Amino acid sequence: MKKLIKLPIYFDYASTTPIDPEVTQSMIQYLGNSEKFGNSSSRSHQFGWHAEEAIDIARNQVADLIHVNTNEIFFTSGATESNNLAIKGLAYSHNNKKKHIITSSIEHKSVINTCLFLEKKGFNVTYIKPLKNGLIDIKEIKKSIKEDTFLVSIMEVNNEIGVIQDISAIGKICKKNHIYFHVDATQSIGKFTVDLRKKNIDLMSFSAHKFYGPKGVGVLYIRQNLHLIMEPLIHGGGQEKKIRSGTLATHQIVGIGKASEIIQKKKFFSEEKKRLKKFHDILFNKIKNIKNISFNGDLKLNVPSIINICFFDVKKTFFVEILKTLSMSYGSACNSSVKKSHVLKAMGLNEKIVNSSLRFSFGRFTTEEEINYATKFLKKNIVYFYKKN
Ligand SMILES: *Cc1c(COP(=O)(O)O)cnc(C)c1O
Repeated sequence: MKKLIKLPIYFDYASTTPIDPEVTQSMIQYLGNSEKFGNSSSRSHQFGWHAEEAIDIARNQVADLIHVNTNEIFFTSGATESNNLAIKGLAYSHNNKKKHIITSSIEHKSVINTCLFLEKKGFNVTYIKPLKNGLIDIKEIKKSIKEDTFLVSIMEVNNEIGVIQDISAIGKICKKNHIYFHVDATQSIGKFTVDLRKKNIDLMSFSAHKFYGPKGVGVLYIRQNLHLIMEPLIHGGGQEKKIRSGTLATHQIVGIGKASEIIQKKKFFSEEKKRLKKFHDILFNKIKNIKNISFNGDLKLNVPSIINICFFDVKKTFFVEILKTLSMSYGSACNSSVKKSHVLKAMGLNEKIVNSSLRFSFGRFTTEEEINYATKFLKKNIVYFYKKN
């Protein structure tokens, strides 16, 4: 018998992922009123010790995931805060006299708008434009370095088009020029192995809700002792080694720890990667030959689970119709629904392409039946909406 498919189907994993039930289970214990509700900063009794122990375990799970030390992990409210803390924290560092930052024009808004803010405060920022395929030319970074450049901030996987930047190469350039390197790796975690032992990265941001954890918790990795010279955004009780104050949200942190542990299970991870690649190939191969369909972003240096599709010359109502059944997004969710994608624009694509593109993204709970359904649905509808033109 054919499996029934529940509609609409969620194809917006790049904006947020469903929480893994195992993660939910781990968090629930810390949301009750039994002995596990304590404040991890309460050092004088066992309610506090229980919470502290849970946070220690989670810190280990996160540190293991990216192969760093536990004292390099700082919990935040998400990648937006981590990006703000990394960039402003270094800009306002007490021993920073330099004023120039290099980033790209396809970063997440939490990086771009932080940089725009700093420009108003007297800093200078170079926004590197990518090539037409969304990749950043390393030569452009080299060319942009000035005497007073103190930071390069470049994302690894782009959230709208899925392209993967050459973070290793950029790290080398930064090291050679004594410039700090921050990476927004929010879309990398859970997609492939992220091993910081092999890379010259000083700061790295990511967020639990992009890898099957809860919303409202993230991490800033800060290379050993670099936090000592950074300026916090939030002052207070000094939790998180004086860099980020506020009572630690035990249940959220337990959630990001569990989500990290799940993707660490090697066998599961490699099988999951194969499964998602297969889904990508099914969709891609079946729709690539349809008239007027094209793909945005490099097709090789790309994560398989994010596909940015341009439906050229279809009626506007096409989008309304297909989005009722397939929950995709225009550009990124953070660009508040119908605002034009700054990423596609920065790639130099014309307005018509920018306005006719949708991001299709999937993940752990997507099934092959759903991919097949989506493929057929797109094929059928696109033919219908061209005919009517
Ligand atoms: C989602 C996302 C963010 C923001 O993360 P939040 O935890 O929602 O603040 C930052 N950068 C990238 C690349 C993202 O995909």
